[in-house]
Amino acid sequence: MIKTTTSQIAEILNTKLIGSGDTLIENISTDTRQAVENGLFFALKGEKFDAHDYVEKAIEQGCVALVVERELNVSVPQIVAADTRLALGELAKWLKAKLNPKTVAMTGSSGKTTVKEMVAKILQKLTACDDEVLYTFGNLNNELGVPLTLLRLTEKHKFAVVELGANHIGEIAYTTAIAQPDACLVNNVAAAHLEGFGSLAGVAQAKGEIYRGLKAGGTAIVNLAHYYPQWQQDIGNHDMQSFCYTGEDKDSYADFWAEDVELLLNGSRFTLHSPQGEIAINLPYLGEHNISNALAAASLAMAVGADLATIKAGLEQRSAVKGRLYPIEINQHLLLIDDSYNANVDSMKSAVSVLKNYPAFRIFAVGDMAELGKESAACHQEVADFVAQAGLDLVVSFGKESAVISQNEAYHFTDKAAMAEFLTQLILQKKAENQPLVLLAKGSRSQKMDELIAMLCQAF
Ligand code: ATP
Ligand code: UDP
Ligand code: MG
Repeated sequence: MIKTTTSQIAEILNTKLIGSGDTLIENISTDTRQAVENGLFFALKGEKFDAHDYVEKAIEQGCVALVVERELNVSVPQIVAADTRLALGELAKWLKAKLNPKTVAMTGSSGKTTVKEMVAKILQKLTACDDEVLYTFGNLNNELGVPLTLLRLTEKHKFAVVELGANHIGEIAYTTAIAQPDACLVNNVAAAHLEGFGSLAGVAQAKGEIYRGLKAGGTAIVNLAHYYPQWQQDIGNHDMQSFCYTGEDKDSYADFWAEDVELLLNGSRFTLHSPQGEIAINLPYLGEHNISNALAAASLAMAVGADLATIKAGLEQRSAVKGRLYPIEINQHLLLIDDSYNANVDSMKSAVSVLKNYPAFRIFAVGDMAELGKESAACHQEVADFVAQAGLDLVVSFGKESAVISQNEAYHFTDKAAMAEFLTQLILQKKAENQPLVLLAKGSRSQKMDELIAMLCQAF
């Protein structure tokens, strides 16, 4: 946030200020569990709490003014807004438009955080100092997270990279209107969060909203392998650039594609083709899907001014993201891959494709996929069929619905400690046989498959 007075903020929000008009605000807060200096506290109503009950605490924690939905009996200035959630978005939109850094936004069913990290790394190579690039912290990608991300903007930022998530129709339209991107992307469309959208077409519609929010003169990036013609209307007259792993899809040719792909045990090598020419890339991320993510990142970065050499430098710098195909080498016999961050049908398949290629005893430790609504059983079956085709050496499952994936009662667990104990014995046995072993753990966030990884790390 830049230094702003309470009277300026009331004017921006077009609403009433109660109390002194020139209190200086330097930070934004929505949570009394964190202290701030010279903070403006937005009292939000959530599922569990109404933050109007916590304003005294907020003042103790360093807030010098409030945004509230009703006037309260407090000592500090109050800005009264009809809806504090919308007011937060409104202020973020104002700040973004005022400072106007080049902004890149991405949505999609998977790979958003990965692409975001890749783009941020590339753009940092264009700036004198890394902190001139603002990017979404972790996974703060919803209707509160996006404004809170953008409200961190200050004059020093040259670029902003924002991840946009969607749980319902209209959410991306809302967050894109706040972010006003110069380049944006739908990375892919898959059976994730189906509960909120009903069908794949519903997911595509919700994600396509990002293109409608492009700034004038901005660039729409599309993945040819996940392109929905209905988006043409959303994209309108904006410039469009496409990428595709294989170079073409359904008779269309991509602007960015990969050639001479070599999948390695610790990443991949490929030639990146772009409208500015080609360059060899050593990508320190596992799996084919990350080559696609790298093409997405390259397309977005070039749209806001990165050249090929900068793109190469950024992509080759690994920012290992915990929980996302994160390799943990225990010893020369044992590699654990922690992909426990989340799961949907496509990302399950990507993970299995990565695991399949290892010249070792390959164990897939799979947990349930959540939030799939009435499609859930069919989605688990689809993963089960894919896993069966892959011919892994062992599949163990945890939870409930993933039992169809291991296809064997003896290999299905509802207790993680028992699962870890079973795997520990097996790992010891393979070690005695001098056979290298790779175990990949994956499931929805709620399944916490990282706990299994932690137990195995402890055991070895
Ligand atoms: P979330 O919706 O939880 O924010 P996300 O879209 O940010 O997820 P990432 O965190 O980048 O996605 O990746 C999550 C998982 O999805 C990864 O661990 C990986 O297995 C898988 N994944 C990443 N990119 C792709 C892709 N392009 N295609 C299929 N699966 C992918
Ligand atoms: N909140 C707070 N202090 C608390 C508990 C909640 O400031 O001790 C805020 C919280 O940050 C959010 C709002 O109250 O802005 C509504 O909380 P919610 O129901 O969303 O709960 P949360 O998931 O944040 O715990
Ligand atoms: Mg994410």
